[in-house]
Amino acid sequence: MGIVDEDIVRVRETTDIVALISQYVALRKVGQRWSGLCPFHNEKSPSFSVDATSGLYHCFGCKASGDAITFVREMEQTDFVGAIELLAARAGYTLRYTDQYEGESRKRVARLHDELERAAEWYHERLRTSPDAAAARSYLRGRGFSVEEVTHFRIGWAPDAWDQLVRALKIGEKDAVGSGLGFVNRAGRLQDFFRARILFPIMDDRSRVIGFGGRKLPDAEGAKYQNSRDNDVYHKSRALYGLNWAKAQAVQNNEMVVCEGYTDVIGFNRAGIERAVATCGTALTEDHVKLIRRFADRLVLAYDADEAGQSAADRVYGWEKTHDIEVAVVELPDGTDPDELASTDPDALREAVAHARPFLQFRVDRVLSKANLITAEGRSKAAEQALVVVAEHPDAFVRDQYVMQVADVCRVDIDLVRQKLREMADPRRRAAAARSSTRAGSGGSDSSRSARGSRSAGAAGSYDDGDPGPTEPGLVDDPDGGGHSFGRGGRAVSGQRNEPFAGAHGPGGARNPGPSGGTRGVRARGADTRNAVELEALNLLIARPEEISPFLSSDLFTDPLIREAYDLVSASPDLATARDQASSEIASLLARLAVEPTEAAWLDVVVRLATELGRVVMADLEAQARSSSDPLSFVESMTWLKLNLDALRASKVEVEKLEDLLDWLGDRRRESDRG
Ligand code: ZN
Repeated sequence: MGIVDEDIVRVRETTDIVALISQYVALRKVGQRWSGLCPFHNEKSPSFSVDATSGLYHCFGCKASGDAITFVREMEQTDFVGAIELLAARAGYTLRYTDQYEGESRKRVARLHDELERAAEWYHERLRTSPDAAAARSYLRGRGFSVEEVTHFRIGWAPDAWDQLVRALKIGEKDAVGSGLGFVNRAGRLQDFFRARILFPIMDDRSRVIGFGGRKLPDAEGAKYQNSRDNDVYHKSRALYGLNWAKAQAVQNNEMVVCEGYTDVIGFNRAGIERAVATCGTALTEDHVKLIRRFADRLVLAYDADEAGQSAADRVYGWEKTHDIEVAVVELPDGTDPDELASTDPDALREAVAHARPFLQFRVDRVLSKANLITAEGRSKAAEQALVVVAEHPDAFVRDQYVMQVADVCRVDIDLVRQKLREMADPRRRAAAARSSTRAGSGGSDSSRSARGSRSAGAAGSYDDGDPGPTEPGLVDDPDGGGHSFGRGGRAVSGQRNEPFAGAHGPGGARNPGPSGGTRGVRARGADTRNAVELEALNLLIARPEEISPFLSSDLFTDPLIREAYDLVSASPDLATARDQASSEIASLLARLAVEPTEAAWLDVVVRLATELGRVVMADLEAQARSSSDPLSFVESMTWLKLNLDALRASKVEVEKLEDLLDWLGDRRRESDRG
């Protein structure tokens, strides 16, 4: 594992999970728990719940669950050790490592970050005060940079010298190379990597310096930009300049703007659009998209219009689908970039971002805006060209929306346009269309639902109504589903059918029997009720163990999974320990129960548990009696059980008798297990 166990326990025990998660999600207190919009899936009403006492969270929508460590792992895309380190840093602990080598390599990365941080400071100071940075200062002033901006963005100056940085900071060769601050020249001498350049420090989302982008002065030699090369801490395919400043507003607006250069990011900030980042000398990669997706559902490309138009469409649609992100495009006035526009006409820049259009709309508009729509020939040609663009979209419903637009603008008969589009679609789609043509006249291949549409329906479905499955297609388009999601209905009893304990096991199904209730006829209703009550007992054991634990034993649980969960919980000092030993299925169940408030009275739960189990044992006895050569030998037990079960229905239950009954039932279960 790397970190000594004691320190892991310490981090786990002292982390305030509500404070931690509040850094990412707005949480509201609901009863004894905290609730908010889930950071792991798209939703409009809160199904994400956090329990401060157990230190666990659970989402009733996407079923994400875990503790502070899993939360950090998911949110920060880091491994276990990384998550512990982050939590420890947050709390100001120094961790001890078990494995010397692993400790060393992590220490080394920390040291590289530290050196990059010192370098950023050194370069920045240099720009502000050093005489040899005068030209750089006047260049920046000329480009409209204020002192505040230079300070905020920590802009620096790398002097026109061989090795001033590495000498000033006393960085050794290995670390200089590892951090990208230096390199060994052909003469075998350590040299600064950046020379005579204005430097823009690139930071990760935790505001740690990972590299630099260097711009030359206008009349200097060399490439306009030089960026850190990939090394131990910097990977350009994952680096986004400005992410550290952009993330707060990106989360707030649920949108991140992606532009091309360091100065564009600063220009956007000048216009009040802080949620802008730039790729560093590379095209947008899938890793970038994943990173952005952690902060926002919408990615807005603010590239030069020609370039944006040429972005590989299939890649963009692929990202939209795989990463559940919407890609839109900002149309900037021809020949301008965000940096310029921020200074000359900030209103126009803000307008442009506010009116960013979906990627496909942007492309269709570009085709149509260049077309000659005056003549009949011009219009039909425009329709054909626009359809080429439309045909690339993987979703039939989305395509059809644009078909209507194209038909309208180009004044072509819509059925003709649809037919044309079908002809253009790829052979596979064509084949599918042919197969379904008997059923769905003009629908084409409509097996793929709208990317956004299916996502929202899927999300709604998963917490409102379960996955409708292939046999209930109607539900897919019903965003409100059955409508008892957590938060609206108070107690979260719905939507549990998708979980490990879904269907036959879910208490939701049992409490909401009906046409769509839990089981879909897979199991008899009795099993449902019993599972519900067993879950309730487990829930109570987690919430208020002192009340119910004396009554419970392993034998009282008929569901193997709930029974296993009970065994773990009752044998562990706390829930975290139990979860550590649990399978993922059970760990998820425990998290769900921990955040699910139960107001049930213990006596009520115990009585129901005894009643349900009593029925099982009674049925068992009856079956044995029927097949026995001496059926009368069962009468005594059956009579005793019947009397005791009847007694449970009385208005006042005697606890002592209840205990006797539970003991007896437990014994019978053990016997029948053996038998
Ligand atoms: Zn969720």
